[in-house]
Amino acid sequence: MAYDSGNVFAKILRGEIPCDKVYEDDHALAFKDIRPQAPVHVLVIPKGPYADTDDFADNASDAEIAGFFRAVGKVSKQLGVSDAGYRILANHGPHAHQEVMHFHLHIFAGRDLGGMIKRFSD
Ligand code: AMP
Repeated sequence: MAYDSGNVFAKILRGEIPCDKVYEDDHALAFKDIRPQAPVHVLVIPKGPYADTDDFADNASDAEIAGFFRAVGKVSKQLGVSDAGYRILANHGPHAHQEVMHFHLHIFAGRDLGGMIKRFSD
């Protein structure tokens, strides 16, 4: 998937549109999801131009990948959700309904989140 720098998260990174920032460092930016699906719903994005999970895994440097996941850990601690628990999720491609083509992880927390996924047979 080629990266399109016109996506909304690229605009947030360039400061062209605002976000409700939670955390930022050299590798990652975290901000509140505009349509929260849990009491805590934060998105963590890498600063580099990676469209989706495969692109990030294939093309980001070791430093970018390590820095990104360390940022996820810092965000969860900063949010105070580590003890009660949280869920991280990445949507990739059409079956997962990925909407924004800049790789990101969702952090959901703040209540019991139920089972992992709707079952295939449901
Ligand atoms: P995904 O389906 O994984 O691509 O999810 C994209 C997420 O980005 C959705 O949960 C949207 O609510 C969220 N989103 C879209 N635009 C913005 C924005 N400007 N600020 C914060 N979150 C956004």
